[in-house]
Amino acid sequence: MKSYRKELWFEVPRRRGFLNITPQVELALRESGIREGLCLVNAMHITAAVFINDNESGLHADFERWLEKLAPEKPYSAYDHNLTGEDNADAHIKRTIMGRETVVAVTAGRLDFGPWEQIFYGEFDGLRRKRVLVKIVGE
Ligand code: ZN
Repeated sequence: MKSYRKELWFEVPRRRGFLNITPQVELALRESGIREGLCLVNAMHITAAVFINDNESGLHADFERWLEKLAPEKPYSAYDHNLTGEDNADAHIKRTIMGRETVVAVTAGRLDFGPWEQIFYGEFDGLRRKRVLVKIVGE
């Protein structure tokens, strides 16, 4: 069995945002040379998510509004975590809702997606460089 590991770096120039990282993951898969196996993609930070969904801007705006209803950024004083001096309790909660990682089957050297599936990085506490891990195992 072969394995391949790559870190992808992102800096979202806002507190929150969604990036379609499918092209970077497809590039990692080509670099791996793996034709059959599994591809794990996970955020390496506890205030960022990796998830699969539709590449549609209206849906992304819907996610943003829905997450703000569930875990509003402000008031910062609403969260015990922010008593530590941080202001990102909402980002930890949003990340947990949207998920740490995704796994995609690799078939015939391609990411074996369902219709419209794309991989997104969800940033909830941006304005700094953060990493995503890609780990691909197989033959
Ligand atoms: Zn924190």
